[in-house]
Amino acid sequence: MKIIGLTGGIGSGKTTIAKMFEALGVPVYYADDEAKKLMNTSIKIKNKLIDVFGNETYKNEKLNRHFLANLIFNDKEKLFKINKIIHPEIDNHFNNWVKKQKSTYVIQENAIIFESDKQNNFDVIITVTAPKNEKIKRVIARDNSTKTKVLERMKNQLSDSFKIANSKYVIYNIDLEQSKLQVQQIHSKLV
Ligand code: ATP
Repeated sequence: MKIIGLTGGIGSGKTTIAKMFEALGVPVYYADDEAKKLMNTSIKIKNKLIDVFGNETYKNEKLNRHFLANLIFNDKEKLFKINKIIHPEIDNHFNNWVKKQKSTYVIQENAIIFESDKQNNFDVIITVTAPKNEKIKRVIARDNSTKTKVLERMKNQLSDSFKIANSKYVIYNIDLEQSKLQVQQIHSKLV
């Protein structure tokens, strides 16, 4: 079974494209959603986070997102520490999930494959891209955000050109019908 990584910058349309693969019957693992769930359910993650950042990290048995967000705001070292705790657990969880799938290939949708140096965990990487202004417009509309906030988040991600240069396939997600065709083409190559 092939393990495919699906990545791209904020607002490129990773989730939208992942759903198109799902519609073709491909199992998709959404790394960010699973990480959020695991941060509430994994005792291992909970204990390690409390060890490093203190009891306030959890409130009423739930992750104190606000506390953690303030902690890592502009603090790369703390973010690195958090990732070091969460990533191995996510990798384990993903590997167990993979074992349960029955298909020629599975996809992990993950915005930070390259940023977290995980590219070698995948047989094939697909990058989703779109023009910068389009991505900004989409995120502002989806998250009710501002251009400044979106640009701030973009600053923390590697460039599309880097991701494209290091990917086997690229999906130019501008017109949704065209994207669907690109997904079908890649799918037929992968199966
Ligand atoms: P993030 O990294 O922020 O989670 P993402 O890359 O997963 O973003 P999506 O959530 O799939 O991106 O898309 C962002 C927004 O843009 C969504 O509201 C989605 O419906 C919309 N969108 C995605 N692709 C297109 C497209 N080709 N044309 C118009 N809107 C689109």
